[in-house]
Amino acid sequence: MSKAAKSNVCSFCGCSKPHMFAGIDGKTLICSDCVEMGHQLVLKFPKNQNGNSELNLDTLPTPQAIKDFLDLYVIGQDDAKRFLSVAVYNHYKRVLQEISNDDVEIEKSNILLVGSTGTGKTLLARTIAKMLKVPFAIGDATALTQAGYVGEDVESLLVRLLQDADYDVLKAQRGIVFIDEIDKIARKSENMSITRDVSGEGVQQSLLKMLEGSIVNVPPQGGRKHPDQEMIHMDTKNILFICGGAFDGIERKISQRMNTQVVGFAAQQQAAHVDKDNLLQYIAPQDLKSYGLIPEIIGRLPVLTYLQPLNKEALRNILTEPKNALTKQYKKLLSMDNVELTFDDDALDYIVDKALEYKLGARGLRGLMETVMTDLMFELPSEKQSGQTQSFTVTKDYVAEKLEQEKLVRLKNAV
Ligand code: ADP
Repeated sequence: MSKAAKSNVCSFCGCSKPHMFAGIDGKTLICSDCVEMGHQLVLKFPKNQNGNSELNLDTLPTPQAIKDFLDLYVIGQDDAKRFLSVAVYNHYKRVLQEISNDDVEIEKSNILLVGSTGTGKTLLARTIAKMLKVPFAIGDATALTQAGYVGEDVESLLVRLLQDADYDVLKAQRGIVFIDEIDKIARKSENMSITRDVSGEGVQQSLLKMLEGSIVNVPPQGGRKHPDQEMIHMDTKNILFICGGAFDGIERKISQRMNTQVVGFAAQQQAAHVDKDNLLQYIAPQDLKSYGLIPEIIGRLPVLTYLQPLNKEALRNILTEPKNALTKQYKKLLSMDNVELTFDDDALDYIVDKALEYKLGARGLRGLMETVMTDLMFELPSEKQSGQTQSFTVTKDYVAEKLEQEKLVRLKNAV
Protein backbone atom coordinates (compact mmCIF):
# COMPACT_ATOMS: atom_id res chain seq x y z
CA MET A 1 0.00 0.00 0.00
CA SER A 2 1.41 3.35 -0.86
CA LYS A 3 0.72 6.63 0.80
CA ALA A 4 -1.21 9.06 -1.32
CA ALA A 5 -0.99 12.71 -0.40
CA LYS A 6 -4.12 13.61 -2.32
CA SER A 7 -7.12 14.68 -0.33
CA ASN A 8 -9.92 12.24 -1.02
CA VAL A 9 -12.68 10.10 0.36
CA CYS A 10 -11.98 6.96 2.43
CA SER A 11 -13.45 3.93 0.65
CA PHE A 12 -14.37 2.40 4.01
CA CYS A 13 -15.83 5.12 6.26
CA GLY A 14 -16.46 7.80 3.67
CA CYS A 15 -14.62 10.51 5.58
CA SER A 16 -12.51 13.06 3.82
CA LYS A 17 -9.02 13.72 5.09
CA PRO A 18 -5.91 15.35 3.65
CA HIS A 19 -3.85 12.16 3.86
CA MET A 20 -5.04 8.78 2.72
CA PHE A 21 -3.38 5.39 2.05
CA ALA A 22 -3.99 3.98 -1.39
CA GLY A 23 -4.51 0.27 -2.07
CA ILE A 24 -2.43 -1.57 -4.63
CA ASP A 25 -5.05 -0.83 -7.28
CA GLY A 26 -4.31 2.86 -6.75
CA LYS A 27 -8.03 3.62 -6.52
CA THR A 28 -9.11 2.30 -3.13
CA LEU A 29 -8.27 4.74 -0.35
CA ILE A 30 -8.25 4.22 3.40
CA CYS A 31 -7.93 6.79 6.17
CA SER A 32 -5.60 6.41 9.15
CA ASP A 33 -8.55 5.77 11.50
CA CYS A 34 -9.71 2.81 9.41
CA VAL A 35 -6.15 1.46 9.19
CA GLU A 36 -5.95 1.61 12.97
CA MET A 37 -9.33 -0.08 13.38
CA GLY A 38 -8.35 -2.83 10.93
CA HIS A 39 -5.11 -3.36 12.79
CA GLN A 40 -6.99 -3.80 16.07
CA LEU A 41 -9.35 -6.29 14.46
CA VAL A 42 -6.49 -8.37 13.09
CA LEU A 43 -4.93 -8.47 16.55
CA LYS A 44 -8.21 -9.48 18.11
CA PHE A 45 -9.11 -12.14 15.55
CA PRO A 46 -5.89 -13.58 14.16
CA LYS A 47 -6.37 -15.79 11.11
CA ASN A 48 -5.62 -18.92 13.04
CA GLN A 49 -7.45 -18.09 16.18
CA ASN A 50 -8.75 -21.63 16.38
CA GLY A 51 -5.43 -23.07 15.37
CA ASN A 52 -7.23 -23.83 12.14
CA SER A 53 -9.04 -21.27 10.09
CA GLU A 54 -11.41 -23.85 8.61
CA LEU A 55 -12.36 -26.12 11.47
CA ASN A 56 -15.09 -24.84 13.74
CA LEU A 57 -18.14 -26.27 15.43
CA ASP A 58 -20.34 -25.43 12.44
CA THR A 59 -18.08 -27.08 9.90
CA LEU A 60 -16.98 -30.01 12.06
CA PRO A 61 -18.12 -33.14 10.20
CA THR A 62 -20.44 -35.52 12.04
CA PRO A 63 -19.23 -39.04 12.91
CA GLN A 64 -21.27 -40.38 9.98
CA ALA A 65 -19.62 -37.91 7.60
CA ILE A 66 -16.17 -38.84 8.95
CA LYS A 67 -16.92 -42.54 8.44
CA ASP A 68 -18.25 -41.90 4.93
CA PHE A 69 -14.99 -40.14 4.09
CA LEU A 70 -12.94 -43.00 5.55
CA ASP A 71 -14.98 -45.43 3.44
CA LEU A 72 -13.68 -43.68 0.33
CA TYR A 73 -10.09 -44.59 1.16
CA VAL A 74 -10.07 -47.51 3.59
CA ILE A 75 -11.59 -50.91 2.87
CA GLY A 76 -13.51 -52.68 5.64
CA GLN A 77 -12.54 -52.09 9.28
CA ASP A 78 -16.04 -50.91 10.10
CA ASP A 79 -15.71 -51.16 13.87
CA ALA A 80 -12.47 -49.21 13.92
CA LYS A 81 -13.98 -46.56 11.63
CA ARG A 82 -17.00 -46.09 13.89
CA PHE A 83 -14.90 -45.84 17.05
CA LEU A 84 -12.49 -43.45 15.38
CA SER A 85 -15.20 -41.24 13.91
CA VAL A 86 -16.88 -40.77 17.27
CA ALA A 87 -13.60 -40.24 19.12
CA VAL A 88 -12.35 -37.69 16.60
CA TYR A 89 -15.69 -35.89 16.57
CA ASN A 90 -15.74 -35.68 20.37
CA HIS A 91 -12.12 -34.63 20.49
CA TYR A 92 -12.66 -31.66 18.20
CA LYS A 93 -15.92 -30.75 19.91
CA ARG A 94 -13.92 -30.58 23.10
CA VAL A 95 -11.20 -28.51 21.45
CA LEU A 96 -13.58 -26.11 19.72
CA GLN A 97 -16.07 -25.69 22.55
CA GLU A 98 -16.70 -22.30 24.04
CA ILE A 99 -15.33 -22.09 27.57
CA SER A 100 -18.38 -22.47 29.75
CA ASN A 101 -18.86 -22.33 33.47
CA ASP A 102 -20.80 -25.52 33.89
CA ASP A 103 -17.72 -27.36 35.16
CA VAL A 104 -18.25 -30.38 32.94
CA GLU A 105 -14.83 -30.97 31.55
CA ILE A 106 -14.73 -33.19 28.49
CA GLU A 107 -11.77 -35.52 28.74
CA LYS A 108 -9.34 -36.14 25.97
CA SER A 109 -10.06 -39.15 23.79
CA ASN A 110 -6.72 -40.44 22.54
CA ILE A 111 -7.07 -43.64 20.59
CA LEU A 112 -5.38 -47.03 20.48
CA LEU A 113 -5.71 -49.13 17.33
CA VAL A 114 -4.77 -52.78 17.70
CA GLY A 115 -4.29 -54.84 14.57
CA SER A 116 -1.68 -56.66 12.50
CA THR A 117 0.70 -54.63 10.42
CA GLY A 118 -0.60 -53.52 7.05
CA THR A 119 -4.28 -53.57 7.98
CA GLY A 120 -4.79 -49.82 7.64
CA LYS A 121 -4.00 -48.25 11.02
CA THR A 122 -1.75 -45.52 9.62
CA LEU A 123 -4.02 -45.08 6.65
CA LEU A 124 -7.02 -44.42 8.93
CA ALA A 125 -5.16 -41.84 11.00
CA ARG A 126 -3.72 -40.13 7.92
CA THR A 127 -7.10 -40.05 6.18
CA ILE A 128 -8.78 -38.40 9.15
CA ALA A 129 -6.10 -35.70 9.29
CA LYS A 130 -6.54 -35.18 5.56
CA MET A 131 -10.29 -34.80 5.92
CA LEU A 132 -10.05 -32.32 8.77
CA LYS A 133 -7.08 -30.53 7.18
CA VAL A 134 -5.16 -30.61 10.44
CA PRO A 135 -1.39 -31.08 10.72
CA PHE A 136 -0.34 -34.70 10.93
CA ALA A 137 2.84 -36.44 12.08
CA ILE A 138 3.84 -40.09 12.23
CA GLY A 139 6.38 -41.52 14.63
CA ASP A 140 7.56 -44.94 15.54
CA ALA A 141 7.60 -45.81 19.21
CA THR A 142 10.57 -48.12 18.69
CA ALA A 143 12.73 -45.16 17.64
CA LEU A 144 11.94 -43.29 20.82
CA THR A 145 14.02 -43.45 23.94
CA GLN A 146 13.87 -41.95 27.33
CA ALA A 147 15.32 -38.39 27.38
CA GLY A 148 19.07 -38.52 27.64
CA TYR A 149 19.57 -41.85 25.91
CA VAL A 150 20.78 -42.24 22.36
CA GLY A 151 17.82 -42.19 20.02
CA GLU A 152 14.94 -39.89 19.31
CA ASP A 153 13.35 -37.93 22.13
CA VAL A 154 9.63 -38.11 22.46
CA GLU A 155 9.55 -34.40 21.56
CA SER A 156 10.71 -35.24 18.04
CA LEU A 157 7.12 -36.24 17.31
CA LEU A 158 6.03 -32.71 18.08
CA VAL A 159 8.79 -31.24 15.93
CA ARG A 160 7.38 -33.17 12.98
CA LEU A 161 3.90 -31.90 13.73
CA LEU A 162 5.21 -28.36 13.90
CA GLN A 163 6.95 -28.78 10.57
CA ASP A 164 3.75 -30.08 9.00
CA ALA A 165 1.97 -26.98 10.33
CA ASP A 166 4.58 -24.71 8.73
CA TYR A 167 5.67 -23.72 12.23
CA ASP A 168 2.25 -22.35 13.11
CA VAL A 169 2.25 -23.38 16.77
CA LEU A 170 -1.47 -22.78 17.29
CA LYS A 171 -2.28 -24.96 14.32
CA ALA A 172 0.14 -27.69 15.39
CA GLN A 173 -1.48 -27.75 18.80
CA ARG A 174 -4.70 -28.96 17.16
CA GLY A 175 -3.02 -31.61 15.05
CA ILE A 176 -2.96 -35.39 15.07
CA VAL A 177 0.09 -37.49 15.97
CA PHE A 178 0.17 -41.16 15.01
CA ILE A 179 2.54 -43.30 17.07
CA ASP A 180 3.10 -46.68 15.51
CA GLU A 181 4.39 -49.84 17.16
CA ILE A 182 3.36 -48.79 20.64
CA ASP A 183 3.31 -52.49 21.54
CA LYS A 184 7.09 -52.62 21.13
CA ILE A 185 7.63 -50.45 24.20
CA ALA A 186 5.61 -52.73 26.43
CA ARG A 187 7.44 -54.12 29.43
CA LYS A 188 8.71 -57.55 28.66
CA SER A 189 6.88 -59.00 31.63
CA GLU A 190 4.12 -57.57 33.71
CA ASN A 191 6.03 -57.98 36.95
CA MET A 192 9.47 -57.06 35.72
CA SER A 193 11.50 -54.64 37.79
CA ILE A 194 11.31 -51.10 36.55
CA THR A 195 14.94 -50.20 37.05
CA ARG A 196 16.87 -50.20 33.79
CA ASP A 197 14.40 -50.62 31.02
CA VAL A 198 15.57 -48.04 28.52
CA SER A 199 13.26 -48.95 25.70
CA GLY A 200 10.16 -49.90 27.64
CA GLU A 201 8.89 -48.37 30.82
CA GLY A 202 11.05 -45.23 30.54
CA VAL A 203 9.67 -44.36 27.13
CA GLN A 204 6.16 -45.09 28.31
CA GLN A 205 6.70 -42.58 31.12
CA SER A 206 7.97 -39.93 28.68
CA LEU A 207 5.05 -40.53 26.37
CA LEU A 208 2.60 -40.33 29.23
CA LYS A 209 3.26 -36.68 29.91
CA MET A 210 2.69 -35.82 26.32
CA LEU A 211 -0.49 -37.88 26.00
CA GLU A 212 -2.13 -36.41 29.04
CA GLY A 213 -1.44 -32.85 27.99
CA SER A 214 1.50 -30.78 29.08
CA ILE A 215 3.71 -27.97 27.92
CA VAL A 216 6.62 -29.51 26.08
CA ASN A 217 9.73 -27.59 25.08
CA VAL A 218 10.46 -28.39 21.49
CA PRO A 219 13.73 -27.57 19.71
CA PRO A 220 12.53 -25.67 16.62
CA GLN A 221 14.85 -27.37 14.14
CA GLY A 222 14.44 -30.83 15.57
CA GLY A 223 17.41 -32.90 16.59
CA ARG A 224 18.82 -33.11 20.08
CA LYS A 225 18.11 -30.43 22.61
CA HIS A 226 20.88 -27.96 23.14
CA PRO A 227 21.20 -25.98 26.39
CA ASP A 228 21.50 -22.57 24.67
CA GLN A 229 18.84 -23.24 22.10
CA GLU A 230 15.63 -21.25 22.19
CA MET A 231 12.71 -23.60 22.63
CA ILE A 232 9.18 -23.49 21.30
CA HIS A 233 6.65 -24.24 24.01
CA MET A 234 3.98 -26.57 22.75
CA ASP A 235 0.85 -27.43 24.66
CA THR A 236 -0.18 -31.00 23.90
CA LYS A 237 -3.57 -30.66 25.59
CA ASN A 238 -5.45 -30.46 22.30
CA ILE A 239 -3.28 -32.70 20.17
CA LEU A 240 -5.03 -35.95 19.32
CA PHE A 241 -2.76 -38.95 19.73
CA ILE A 242 -3.62 -42.09 17.82
CA CYS A 243 -1.45 -45.05 18.73
CA GLY A 244 -1.18 -48.25 16.78
CA GLY A 245 0.32 -51.65 17.42
CA ALA A 246 0.13 -55.24 16.25
CA PHE A 247 0.36 -56.65 19.80
CA ASP A 248 1.43 -60.01 18.43
CA GLY A 249 0.14 -62.83 20.60
CA ILE A 250 -2.30 -60.69 22.56
CA GLU A 251 -5.05 -63.09 21.51
CA ARG A 252 -3.61 -65.49 24.08
CA LYS A 253 -4.10 -62.91 26.84
CA ILE A 254 -7.62 -62.19 25.61
CA SER A 255 -8.55 -65.86 25.58
CA GLN A 256 -6.99 -66.41 29.02
CA ARG A 257 -9.01 -63.55 30.42
CA MET A 258 -12.19 -64.74 28.76
CA ASN A 259 -11.68 -68.26 30.03
CA THR A 260 -11.18 -67.14 33.59
CA GLN A 261 -14.23 -64.94 33.35
CA VAL A 262 -16.29 -67.73 31.90
CA VAL A 263 -17.75 -69.33 34.99
CA GLY A 264 -21.33 -70.44 35.47
CA PHE A 265 -24.16 -71.30 33.15
CA ALA A 266 -24.83 -67.84 31.70
CA ALA A 267 -21.16 -67.44 31.00
CA GLN A 268 -21.08 -70.80 29.27
CA GLN A 269 -23.81 -69.60 26.97
CA GLN A 270 -21.84 -66.46 26.30
CA ALA A 271 -18.76 -68.53 25.55
CA ALA A 272 -20.68 -70.36 22.86
CA HIS A 273 -20.90 -67.09 20.93
CA VAL A 274 -17.22 -66.31 21.10
CA ASP A 275 -15.70 -65.96 17.66
CA LYS A 276 -12.42 -67.76 18.31
CA ASP A 277 -10.98 -66.83 14.93
CA ASN A 278 -11.11 -63.16 15.69
CA LEU A 279 -10.43 -62.72 19.37
CA LEU A 280 -9.05 -59.23 18.82
CA GLN A 281 -12.60 -57.87 18.70
CA TYR A 282 -12.93 -58.65 22.43
CA ILE A 283 -9.80 -56.71 23.40
CA ALA A 284 -10.07 -54.90 26.71
CA PRO A 285 -7.72 -52.65 28.71
CA GLN A 286 -6.77 -55.56 31.03
CA ASP A 287 -5.24 -57.39 28.08
CA LEU A 288 -3.00 -54.42 27.32
CA LYS A 289 -1.87 -54.44 30.93
CA SER A 290 -1.08 -58.15 30.76
CA TYR A 291 0.87 -57.39 27.59
CA GLY A 292 3.05 -54.89 29.43
CA LEU A 293 1.62 -51.42 28.89
CA ILE A 294 1.63 -49.45 32.12
CA PRO A 295 -1.86 -48.68 33.47
CA GLU A 296 -1.26 -44.92 33.21
CA ILE A 297 -0.66 -45.18 29.47
CA ILE A 298 -3.71 -47.39 29.05
CA GLY A 299 -5.74 -44.79 30.95
CA ARG A 300 -4.54 -42.10 28.55
CA LEU A 301 -5.69 -44.07 25.53
CA PRO A 302 -9.35 -44.48 26.48
CA VAL A 303 -10.64 -45.29 23.01
CA LEU A 304 -9.57 -48.83 22.26
CA THR A 305 -10.47 -50.55 19.01
CA TYR A 306 -9.17 -53.24 16.68
CA LEU A 307 -8.55 -53.88 13.01
CA GLN A 308 -9.33 -57.14 11.32
CA PRO A 309 -6.83 -59.07 9.25
CA LEU A 310 -7.45 -58.45 5.57
CA ASN A 311 -8.92 -61.44 3.78
CA LYS A 312 -8.87 -62.18 0.07
CA GLU A 313 -11.97 -60.15 -0.64
CA ALA A 314 -10.60 -57.11 1.21
CA LEU A 315 -7.26 -57.28 -0.63
CA ARG A 316 -9.12 -57.57 -3.92
CA ASN A 317 -11.22 -54.51 -3.08
CA ILE A 318 -8.12 -52.53 -2.09
CA LEU A 319 -6.92 -52.87 -5.68
CA THR A 320 -10.05 -51.36 -7.20
CA GLU A 321 -12.33 -49.62 -4.71
CA PRO A 322 -10.58 -46.79 -2.81
CA LYS A 323 -10.65 -43.35 -4.34
CA ASN A 324 -6.96 -43.62 -5.11
CA ALA A 325 -6.89 -47.39 -5.67
CA LEU A 326 -3.77 -48.72 -7.37
CA THR A 327 -5.58 -49.76 -10.57
CA LYS A 328 -7.13 -46.29 -10.83
CA GLN A 329 -3.70 -44.71 -10.47
CA TYR A 330 -2.18 -46.79 -13.28
CA LYS A 331 -5.19 -46.10 -15.51
CA LYS A 332 -4.77 -42.39 -14.94
CA LEU A 333 -1.02 -42.46 -15.54
CA LEU A 334 -1.39 -44.28 -18.83
CA SER A 335 -4.37 -42.25 -19.98
CA MET A 336 -1.95 -39.32 -20.12
CA ASP A 337 -0.18 -41.29 -22.85
CA ASN A 338 -3.50 -41.93 -24.61
CA VAL A 339 -3.56 -45.52 -23.42
CA GLU A 340 -6.84 -46.96 -22.25
CA LEU A 341 -5.87 -49.53 -19.65
CA THR A 342 -8.12 -52.30 -18.37
CA PHE A 343 -7.52 -55.15 -15.97
CA ASP A 344 -9.16 -58.54 -16.38
CA ASP A 345 -10.83 -59.75 -13.21
CA ASP A 346 -8.81 -62.95 -13.09
CA ALA A 347 -5.60 -60.94 -13.51
CA LEU A 348 -6.41 -59.06 -10.30
CA ASP A 349 -7.43 -62.30 -8.58
CA TYR A 350 -4.06 -63.74 -9.49
CA ILE A 351 -2.24 -60.77 -7.93
CA VAL A 352 -4.26 -61.13 -4.73
CA ASP A 353 -3.56 -64.87 -4.62
CA LYS A 354 0.15 -64.18 -4.84
CA ALA A 355 -0.10 -61.53 -2.11
CA LEU A 356 -1.71 -64.15 0.13
CA GLU A 357 0.60 -66.99 -0.88
CA TYR A 358 3.72 -64.96 -0.18
CA LYS A 359 2.17 -63.26 2.87
CA LEU A 360 2.78 -59.82 1.37
CA GLY A 361 -0.41 -58.30 2.77
CA ALA A 362 -1.91 -55.02 1.62
CA ARG A 363 1.47 -53.34 1.77
CA GLY A 364 2.83 -55.82 -0.75
CA LEU A 365 0.12 -55.09 -3.29
CA ARG A 366 1.90 -52.00 -4.48
CA GLY A 367 5.13 -53.89 -5.09
CA LEU A 368 3.26 -56.60 -6.97
CA MET A 369 1.47 -54.07 -9.16
CA GLU A 370 4.73 -52.23 -9.87
CA THR A 371 6.34 -55.50 -10.93
CA VAL A 372 3.44 -56.19 -13.27
CA MET A 373 3.24 -52.67 -14.68
CA THR A 374 6.85 -51.52 -15.05
CA ASP A 375 7.49 -52.98 -18.52
CA LEU A 376 4.20 -51.60 -19.77
CA MET A 377 4.87 -48.16 -18.41
CA PHE A 378 8.29 -48.26 -20.03
CA GLU A 379 7.14 -49.39 -23.42
CA LEU A 380 3.69 -47.94 -24.06
CA PRO A 381 4.63 -44.22 -24.02
CA SER A 382 7.15 -44.78 -26.88
CA GLU A 383 4.44 -46.35 -28.98
CA LYS A 384 2.33 -43.24 -28.69
CA GLN A 385 0.94 -42.02 -31.99
CA SER A 386 -0.39 -38.52 -31.98
CA GLY A 387 -4.12 -38.20 -31.57
CA GLN A 388 -4.65 -41.96 -31.44
CA THR A 389 -5.84 -43.81 -28.41
CA GLN A 390 -4.54 -47.32 -27.92
CA SER A 391 -5.84 -49.82 -25.48
CA PHE A 392 -4.19 -52.48 -23.39
CA THR A 393 -5.74 -55.19 -21.29
CA VAL A 394 -3.77 -56.70 -18.43
CA THR A 395 -4.66 -60.39 -18.56
CA LYS A 396 -3.98 -63.18 -16.12
CA ASP A 397 -1.35 -64.64 -18.49
CA TYR A 398 0.41 -61.30 -18.69
CA VAL A 399 0.46 -61.01 -14.87
CA ALA A 400 1.70 -64.60 -14.47
CA GLU A 401 4.52 -63.89 -16.92
CA LYS A 402 5.62 -60.80 -15.00
CA LEU A 403 5.34 -62.30 -11.53
CA GLU A 404 8.00 -64.95 -11.78
CA GLN A 405 8.79 -66.76 -8.58
CA GLU A 406 12.17 -65.10 -8.21
CA LYS A 407 10.61 -61.63 -8.26
CA LEU A 408 8.03 -62.68 -5.70
CA VAL A 409 10.71 -63.91 -3.34
CA ARG A 410 12.49 -60.58 -3.74
CA LEU A 411 9.26 -58.72 -2.95
CA LYS A 412 8.68 -60.86 0.11
CA ASN A 413 12.09 -59.97 1.46
CA ALA A 414 11.38 -56.27 0.89
CA VAL A 415 8.04 -56.13 2.75
P1 ADP B 1 -0.55 -50.38 9.34
O1 ADP B 1 -0.40 -49.00 9.83
O2 ADP B 1 -1.75 -51.09 9.92
O3 ADP B 1 0.70 -51.22 9.46
P2 ADP B 1 -0.91 -49.12 6.80
O4 ADP B 1 -2.08 -48.25 7.09
O5 ADP B 1 0.43 -48.45 6.77
O6 ADP B 1 -0.85 -50.36 7.79
O7 ADP B 1 -1.17 -49.89 5.43
C1 ADP B 1 -0.14 -50.10 4.47
C2 ADP B 1 -0.70 -49.89 3.07
O8 ADP B 1 -1.61 -50.95 2.76
C3 ADP B 1 -1.54 -48.62 2.96
O9 ADP B 1 -0.78 -47.55 2.48
C4 ADP B 1 -2.61 -48.99 1.96
O10 ADP B 1 -2.13 -48.80 0.66
C5 ADP B 1 -2.80 -50.46 2.16
N1 ADP B 1 -3.91 -50.77 3.07
C6 ADP B 1 -3.82 -51.42 4.26
N2 ADP B 1 -5.02 -51.62 4.80
C7 ADP B 1 -5.91 -51.07 3.95
C8 ADP B 1 -7.34 -50.94 3.96
N3 ADP B 1 -8.08 -51.45 4.97
N4 ADP B 1 -7.92 -50.31 2.92
C9 ADP B 1 -7.19 -49.82 1.90
N5 ADP B 1 -5.85 -49.92 1.82
C10 ADP B 1 -5.20 -50.53 2.83
